[in-house]
Amino acid sequence: MVSVLDAKHFRDEAAAYKWVEARVWPNGRVCPHCGSVDKSGPLKGKSTRIGVYKCYEKECRKPFTVKVGTIFEDSHIKLHIWLQAMFLLASSKKGISSNQLARTLGVTLKSAWFLSHRIREAMRDTSAPPFGGNFGGVEADETLQGVDSRRAPDPEANPPGPYHFNRVLTLIDRDTGAARSFVLTEFTTEEVQRILNENVAKEAYLLTDEAPQYKRPGKLQTFHGTTNHSDGEYVKADAPWVHTNTVEGYYSIFKRGMKGVYQHCGRAHLHRYTAEFDFRYSNRAKLGVDDVTRFAKIVEGVKGKRLTYRSVDREEQAEA
Ligand SMILES: [Zn+2]
Repeated sequence: MVSVLDAKHFRDEAAAYKWVEARVWPNGRVCPHCGSVDKSGPLKGKSTRIGVYKCYEKECRKPFTVKVGTIFEDSHIKLHIWLQAMFLLASSKKGISSNQLARTLGVTLKSAWFLSHRIREAMRDTSAPPFGGNFGGVEADETLQGVDSRRAPDPEANPPGPYHFNRVLTLIDRDTGAARSFVLTEFTTEEVQRILNENVAKEAYLLTDEAPQYKRPGKLQTFHGTTNHSDGEYVKADAPWVHTNTVEGYYSIFKRGMKGVYQHCGRAHLHRYTAEFDFRYSNRAKLGVDDVTRFAKIVEGVKGKRLTYRSVDREEQAEA
């Protein structure tokens, strides 16, 4: 049987460079130093590495590769291994642990961990339009995920309660089927309002449960439909489109992945995992996106997302 991973760009380093170049430079080769387009050529010489170009612009004349200014920068991992890792993360519905990734790719656990965090960065949606434009429906809901390191429970003085967990708020655009999640600092009206201001069109129909934090923000939308979950109401009988079942469905996938694969995730990195689940959900098979297309979309997202080991490490320190 032919495997997707038999493709040349997953096996051969030069082919991997060509494949990535075609996606990072769809409109011509861009020099990352001076911004010139198609004014460069392969750097010639005996010991030249794969994929090195030299800028012909007079004031510049600098060498560069497609890795400069992307998540691949400063990585000693081969590009075709990166592509394998990206395909695995794109196609595993519940995610893939660093341990599994290290075993499958034959890299160290530390490399696998860093690789997957950088790939999550490439999955992060940075240019997306607001949800619910053109009077579309937007579902909003929150879930608890993992202990909040800022206020871990003290079993004697302070038994665990909702307050001790991280809270993730997720928006679903009913028209496009896309998801966008946020790790909340506090679950307050103000924070909900800020997220809606930045991500939801004013004309959107907002659909939530009856949590009081949605009340005031909901009044600023064209329409705010609520279901009363504490009364066992999940769909309004007289308005069947008023429900948050889509976002509940998203959480069931998210929860399965976080419990089964990423159980050790701390607060400092939680936003990277939500970006990963958002990405796969927003590009899921039901929306007509297959594994290969989803994988190619990650590669298109590598630009301008440098993430140094030190910055990831600093998040870790901040949490500890
Ligand atoms: Zn240049």
